Amino acid sequence: MSYICNSCLTIFEDSFILQCVKLDMYWIKNEMCPTYKCDGKLIEIDNNIIYFIQELWKLNIKTLFCCGGHIVNYNNFKASYSNNRPYLMLDNSNDKTVIDLLKNLLNNTKYINFELIPFKQFNEENGEDIEQLSLEPKEKYVEQMLKDIYLQIECNNNFQKLLYDWILVLNMNKS
Ligand SMILES: [Zn+2]
Repeated sequence: MSYICNSCLTIFEDSFILQCVKLDMYWIKNEMCPTYKCDGKLIEIDNNIIYFIQELWKLNIKTLFCCGGHIVNYNNFKASYSNNRPYLMLDNSNDKTVIDLLKNLLNNTKYINFELIPFKQFNEENGEDIEQLSLEPKEKYVEQMLKDIYLQIECNNNFQKLLYDWILVLNMNKS
């Protein structure tokens, strides 16, 4: 996994981070940005979506948590698949008109059912008003592992395409 600084938005790729961990650099242990005069914090983000998240942040979209999706357990793929879908959690302090714009793009997708799930379902003790944008394949019950893997790849590709579409629309609406 790579890291992004939440202040200067610089991305530090995992190969660089691994080198710094080996060299026992103090800043990586404290998750501090190594950029000169930056007091930002390093945030770990999956490699397949980190550049999309960087673009969203540049466009002032506030995110809370995200995952690029993972295939963890090949022997029990269905169980792991359901736990490792890609998702993005947006902060509700984002501009409402911007969030409505992004939600409209969710409804137009052909490949994936997007469900808006209140964050409280996942984290009861957190009283914040947060929404999770969750992705789920239309075919929920697939027989073969290969088909599952195909869906996982398709799900990832569509997640990336969604983020790309968001960035395009946000850029068009910037001025
Ligand atoms: Zn920084």
